Amino acid sequence: MLKTASHSAASGVPAHAAQHALIGDGAFVGQLMESLSIPVFVLDRDARVMIWNRACEQLTGVPASEIIGTGEHWRSFYEHRRPTLADLVLQNRTEDVRQIMPRTAQPGSSTGLCLESWFDMPRAGRRRYLAADATPIYDAHGNLSAVVETLRDLTDEKMAQVALEQLATRDGLTGLANRRCFDDTLHAEWSRALRQAQPLSLLMVDVDNFKAYNDANGHLGGDECLKRIARAVASEMRANDLVARYGGEEFAVILPNQSLKGAAIVAERIRCRVEALQLPSTAPTRHVTVSIGAATAIAGPDNNASQLVATADAALYRAKHLGRNRISLPLSEAA
Ligand code: GH3
Ligand code: MG
Ligand code: MG
Repeated sequence: MLKTASHSAASGVPAHAAQHALIGDGAFVGQLMESLSIPVFVLDRDARVMIWNRACEQLTGVPASEIIGTGEHWRSFYEHRRPTLADLVLQNRTEDVRQIMPRTAQPGSSTGLCLESWFDMPRAGRRRYLAADATPIYDAHGNLSAVVETLRDLTDEKMAQVALEQLATRDGLTGLANRRCFDDTLHAEWSRALRQAQPLSLLMVDVDNFKAYNDANGHLGGDECLKRIARAVASEMRANDLVARYGGEEFAVILPNQSLKGAAIVAERIRCRVEALQLPSTAPTRHVTVSIGAATAIAGPDNNASQLVATADAALYRAKHLGRNRISLPLSEAA
């Protein structure tokens, strides 16, 4: 019969003795496991599956008859061989578990482990987000005899959380980062630029004569135009860049570790890309165009991210003033 360490330690307690009398032989334990709605499996000390309850069959799509007595339980969770949480507890690898499952595994009880993560679930045919708890079970002499792992399917909750995060950080029309995400990212990148003594560049991109475009094509036509421009701008980005919808028909691009010269090249590529869309415009150009202001800062104690935005804004204003469909750099740099 299985006993946990805490049970063993408390074996003098009357309530516990009463429980033993009730449980009797293993048949009761088997029935108990089957009646649980929580998926549970138990590994013996040789890492072979002793128990695989009905809820675990339902979750994994793997019948107990196939898995009991084998060490193949990992196949129910992962595409490629790796230890389950129960294996790690069995191997007493609770210390180095963080390296194997970074950012997820937490010490559970004093010797157990818990983690929340996506699992491949190859036999179930669908990735699931599970919370797993693995707890060691000791015999009457205090020797590790088995590990019990319980699982909770949190996929629906996780999906809802991801959707909420998406809502909080994405612009509904274009799918780009929204203004809030831009602000957060700019401040994070500013801090990083400060730490690493790297330049940080910013582009402010504004659609030219967009009011006239709206007037000619209607608001829905204008929306469609903004979506096309958003895709065009995003297509010019590197992995670490961020493009956001800053407001109405204005986009902002954060270019970490990019010089002003590099930023000017990106800006010109964006300008050409939008022009090449050849979205018909009434006046004064034949196609929809954008104006772009660029700015770069070496982050230091005497400046801040808001000044970078103001400098890029001023450059954008000059690009408009000089006739639109052009890029502009800060005056001191352009001279
Ligand atoms: P400029 O070249 O100086 O930038 O001229 P502009 O007409 O683009 O600038 P203005 O600020 O006068 O007008 C911006 C227009 O963008 C007005 C506004 O109705 C439109 N706009 C802002 N957000 C949206 C949106 O989400 N959808 C649509 N269709 N239009 C929008
Ligand atoms: Mg505009
Ligand atoms: Mg504008």
